[in-house]
Amino acid sequence: MKIICVNAGSSSLKFKLFNMKNEEVIASGLFERIGISNSDYIIKFNGQKIEQEIEMNNHLDAVQILLDKLVSLNIISSLSEIDGVGHRLVHGKDKYKDSVIITDEVIQDLTDYKEFAPLHNPANVLAINAFREVLPNVMMVGVFDTAFHQSIEEENYLYAVPREWYSEYGVRKYGFHGTSHRYITETLTSKLGRSDLKIINCHIGNGGSLSAIKNGKCINTTMGFTPLSGIMMGTRSGDIDSSIIPYVMEKEGMNANEVIDVLNKQSGLLGVSSKSEDMRDILRGIDEGDTECLLAFNKYCRIVTNFIASYYVELEGADIISFTAGVGENSYPFRKKVCENLKCLGIKIDDSKNEEAFGKYAKISTDDSLVDVYVVPTDEELLIARDTLHFIQNV
Ligand code: ADP
Repeated sequence: MKIICVNAGSSSLKFKLFNMKNEEVIASGLFERIGISNSDYIIKFNGQKIEQEIEMNNHLDAVQILLDKLVSLNIISSLSEIDGVGHRLVHGKDKYKDSVIITDEVIQDLTDYKEFAPLHNPANVLAINAFREVLPNVMMVGVFDTAFHQSIEEENYLYAVPREWYSEYGVRKYGFHGTSHRYITETLTSKLGRSDLKIINCHIGNGGSLSAIKNGKCINTTMGFTPLSGIMMGTRSGDIDSSIIPYVMEKEGMNANEVIDVLNKQSGLLGVSSKSEDMRDILRGIDEGDTECLLAFNKYCRIVTNFIASYYVELEGADIISFTAGVGENSYPFRKKVCENLKCLGIKIDDSKNEEAFGKYAKISTDDSLVDVYVVPTDEELLIARDTLHFIQNV
């Protein structure tokens, strides 16, 4: 059973081909600059890497090249070996609470929800249509980034603004990174053999969000109407006082979209440090005595700590705090600082276990810590492939 998992952007397409017998990745790759000049692709398989610059005018060209290459490189013997295609979809509004088989209705909804994810939903539709054309009889499944957060209740998803903004325009917290938060929840549930866990999951990559999870269901999350809110991130500000926006518009002679662009692309770690959005650079800066890097790091850890503390109260305690994604999986100084900030909750980590847990599943708290702390590598593509397999086997 072989399943392709696809993550499409407006000019890119990432894929992983899984053999679902053992959940092994047989091939993976990235097609870039689709529809722009100098488009190229990389395909990795069996320890090899193929790279080529080739004209790709649209997503259909990319998908055709991808499938041709899978066969010509003998990664699969024919296209009939592909049993399913799983698509990472971004915005399903409040209609999609679970993964779905992709139908005309789903494509129409993705198009209708374009305003909510202007870069991602149209790209998802392009990739779906391309695969439909080339593999018309293969089942396609969509896994929404927003779906896991649909269990959040009104009290948490509504903003304290006029009700009509929600009823008329859909203004509410949607949350993102849901596929990752769900993957971590399912991994911990299965590894620990318990479905009654209270988990505070910290997905800290370039983008970042925390979720509070109880009995496998999300009850709160930090991202909101868009991915801009919640914690400070690599280049995003996270929560700010919204009155800053018109104030800066006036001072800088910018329009609202230009200010939002700065909040998305020039803020966060980058904005506070004035150096970099990459945690590795920030840590290097701290080692070299850069006080702005230290401030950015401390501020980042403080904001994450405060959300953990808030979710700890909301969950009435926690069994697990888990760290995942680029920073969460790989940066022991980040985890150490956040956990030190939480010591009044009886949370203690073992420094050597923390330092050894580099990108791998590990418990890093001490035996007497009142909450267990884990590093859990995320794998959104695998979850998408598993959901696709589920539909193939159950329909
Ligand atoms: P995205 O949100 O783009 O999916 P990732 O989850 O891949 O991001 O995380 C990327 C970030 O992870 C980088 O910007 C970098 O800050 C951080 N990162 C990766 N490796 C390390 C490391 N060894 N130490 C600290 N931070 C790291």
